[in-house]
Amino acid sequence: MTGVLRRTWQRCADCGHEIGELARETRCPECHGLLEILHAGTALSAEQLKQRFLAHPVTAHGAVASGVWRFQDIVLPTATSPVSWPEGNTPLLDRAAVQQWAGCPGLLLKHEGMNPTGSFKDRGMTVGVTQAQRIGASAVACASTGNTSASLAAYAAQAGLPALVFVPSGGIALGKLAQSLAYGARTLLVRGDFDDCLRLVEAAHRELGVYLLNSINPFRLEGQKTIVLELLLQLAWHSPDWIAVPAGNLGNTAAFGKALREAKELGLIARVPRIASVQASGAAPFAAAFAEDFAVRHRVRAETVATAIKIGDPASWDRAVRTIRETDGVVLAVSDAEILEAKAVIDASGVGCEPASAASVAGVRQLVRQGTIRPGERVVAVLTGHVLKDPGILLRYHQEMEPAPAKANRPVEIESHLRDVERVLKERKR
Ligand SMILES: *Cc1c(COP(=O)(O)O)cnc(C)c1O
Ligand SMILES: [Zn+2]
Repeated sequence: MTGVLRRTWQRCADCGHEIGELARETRCPECHGLLEILHAGTALSAEQLKQRFLAHPVTAHGAVASGVWRFQDIVLPTATSPVSWPEGNTPLLDRAAVQQWAGCPGLLLKHEGMNPTGSFKDRGMTVGVTQAQRIGASAVACASTGNTSASLAAYAAQAGLPALVFVPSGGIALGKLAQSLAYGARTLLVRGDFDDCLRLVEAAHRELGVYLLNSINPFRLEGQKTIVLELLLQLAWHSPDWIAVPAGNLGNTAAFGKALREAKELGLIARVPRIASVQASGAAPFAAAFAEDFAVRHRVRAETVATAIKIGDPASWDRAVRTIRETDGVVLAVSDAEILEAKAVIDASGVGCEPASAASVAGVRQLVRQGTIRPGERVVAVLTGHVLKDPGILLRYHQEMEPAPAKANRPVEIESHLRDVERVLKERKR
């Protein structure tokens, strides 16, 4: 170990090998396992930490206004100049129509689509790009189903770092591709799926030396912990009974478990909520393994309308298993039809989200129906991305699908005559 202050360091989750905080590796140099960030215990009490988290006034700008760097003491204490949009500070919403559909009166929605580039990926990226700058990276790269590339592109632009993004050709939602191009990332449309992109970017990292900012990067997970820390703060540190999260590459599932473990150890919360990790049924290797008590690791060829969770071989597998075990969590799968119906309900409530996000609410409904979530329980469902990320699916659902889905809101084409307007108004009254 270098440095006198051993405040933050990295440890391999597989073999225990330790490397310094500013090492450039994003996997264990000994065994290629995934790394975890460790912070030496803080001398502050839980009450002192809670006060420090609140010392971020609304008049602030830059990192001081960030809902990620608010928690710097337990995210990346040693960083001195964060690359911050700022991000985080997303709302916790209470919507009767969504609660009714899910059969869960205690349901709240944590809307991570309200981050600067429209997804929770910004929370990880502010920490990841800060780290890239600290270690003097010359370029940054990621493979992505779209949102990671949009976020990387924006934060790399802010940091003045060249960004290289690998996305599956034809496999990413329009809004996300548009963002990567707009924010100036070198965008590679790979003829293959997300899992092919991931293999390729890892090779580029090994052979060409670009700093890897996929969710295997443990610094991104440190930032994503703040989704949970922030919702706990919004609930005045009274844990809900459940947190439901869409699950693709399992970065969030892993980060949520780490956040809860640390919050419990630090005395910030008295009780750990249960995590419900929700996959799309066409991309559900983790749900399949859960049903067998994680005896084997599954891999599938993924197929779902929810492109952000269309992942067949999730990278953060082991650390996500740990989350489910430690939180007495559950993993389930919901169909594309359930996802689209949940999305239509969330959208029509005026909240809106992208398809993958709606998996969390569809999962809550399934767990309520099974009796796993009980009637009085308090549940926070995380909405991971913004409604405008995937305009293509919206137009298909509302305008094109035959027969029209139950919640389709068909537009009406009319002549430019007032009587046509009157006719439409009368139809709506019926
Ligand atoms: C990345 C992403 C997910 C999947 O999260 P993981 O951490 O990979 O499981 C879900 N929803 C949206 C909108 C995303 O961008
Ligand atoms: Zn190792």
